[in-house]
Amino acid sequence: MVSRRAVLLGVGAVVGLGASTLPPRAVRRRIEPCAEWGARPPVEQPVSLSRKPERIIVHHTATENVADGSRQHAHERARFFQGLHMDVNDWGDTGQHFTITRGGVLLEGRHGSLDALLAGDRMVEGAHAFGQNRNSIGIENEGTYIDQTPPAVQWDALVWLCAVICRQYGIAPAEIHGHRDFWDGTMCPGDAFHALLPRLRAEVALI
Ligand SMILES: [Zn+2]
Repeated sequence: MVSRRAVLLGVGAVVGLGASTLPPRAVRRRIEPCAEWGARPPVEQPVSLSRKPERIIVHHTATENVADGSRQHAHERARFFQGLHMDVNDWGDTGQHFTITRGGVLLEGRHGSLDALLAGDRMVEGAHAFGQNRNSIGIENEGTYIDQTPPAVQWDALVWLCAVICRQYGIAPAEIHGHRDFWDGTMCPGDAFHALLPRLRAEVALI
């Protein structure tokens, strides 16, 4: 069981820098564990791999670009995605490790992902990118970003989460990629979002 304190992660705490030396994005944020958004128990227990992931893969959910940035909406979406993955895709649990809503709410996706991130020496096998599920962390960003870019609050949360993942696992920011970099059959995370990946790598490197 992850304590409330443990999920209040500050990038500064992770990298051991004083708060005064950190850019504004290096604030403390919270990743809401599965238990808080009302996740169903997984059909299959997540497979824990005793090694670190090598990269981060960014996705969009290809859902509506809603204006509702509330926690209530975030929890509803997290349950919706889990239901889609379990009941329609017939997967054991949510496919991705983490989800970020358009309101910038950070949520654990697949059970065990947050504990593994906090430990920094293991990962759970995902179901988000064919061929990359045993060596990457998948982040789903709520919305459709073919010709629109993510809202600033969502972007800031993504930069923060990528920075934490990179620090915890020793991943270089250059290893942040888009889903379609590994599969020609998808537009994910959308043209507009994909074009921002160099900026994402640069901003993560600055934290
Ligand atoms: Zn994707």
